[in-house]
Amino acid sequence: MSTESSKIKNNRKINLAKVTNLDTIRFITQFGFFSFILYISIGHLIYGGGSSGFPSLGTYCPFGGFVKLFQNLGTGKYILSMPPTKLALLGATILTAVVAGRAFCGWICPFGSVQEWLRVLGERAFPKGIEIPKEIDSALRYVKYVVLGLILFLALTSGVMIFKLFDPYSALFHFAGLWGNVAVSAVITMAIFLTLSLFIDRAWCRYACPLGAIQALFNKISLIKLVKKVDICKNCSKCSEIYCPMGIEISTLTETSAECIRCLRCVDKCNFDAVEARIEV
Ligand code: SF4
Ligand code: SF4
Repeated sequence: MSTESSKIKNNRKINLAKVTNLDTIRFITQFGFFSFILYISIGHLIYGGGSSGFPSLGTYCPFGGFVKLFQNLGTGKYILSMPPTKLALLGATILTAVVAGRAFCGWICPFGSVQEWLRVLGERAFPKGIEIPKEIDSALRYVKYVVLGLILFLALTSGVMIFKLFDPYSALFHFAGLWGNVAVSAVITMAIFLTLSLFIDRAWCRYACPLGAIQALFNKISLIKLVKKVDICKNCSKCSEIYCPMGIEISTLTETSAECIRCLRCVDKCNFDAVEARIEV
């Protein structure tokens, strides 16, 4: 394998002139969720919580529900004792993962969306991006499972919710601490990963997000799977030029990729319909 091909490229062309209906629908969906969280966040900062105010950002954090489950388990509390909104969100996140794997990341998560938008900007300013050797990229993608394990272990054994100290999503919607209370370490984490996202597709999602790690586990068993039809594929390599938000080499894509966030760009762009999203029970 040549040096060129053994690197994960982050300089595929994000061709805005070739935006399709699917790209538009996904952007509107992502922007809708981003705007909703922004609205809640600003509302909470202005009006506070309680019956006349706005719920806190944490109420709409699906990962908080997972950590709370483990915390309750460790402290002997009723496992589902948590605010109804958090519980509903936890249920919805699990349901989404069971049905469509990591689609939450591709269509809903505001932090994921912001990274993707930054990458579009980054490509214009730094067309080459950063090319990471494939082996290093593959190894780093396992870090998010270590992060997840550590967070859940600490919640279970000592009730500590350590992720609050490093949560970039919370730091972003608390406006880097300029408005609202957020740990400095979370602001630093946010700054590092948003900066990296200018050069690397969704750096946080690929390497560090514990919620992404949970959902990645569902990609292999979800009802809707992404299937590469090798018999139809013409090996034209066009798909390798498509911007995949997770930096996946689509020409070697398999249905079991834990990294795929089901954005469906490759399904949409293949001229030969060789990549398909289909229900498999
Ligand atoms: S990996 Fe994490 S940050 Fe990225 S989109 Fe998924 S949940 Fe959001
Ligand atoms: S492999 Fe296809 S569907 Fe999955 S993230 Fe990449 S472009 Fe999107």
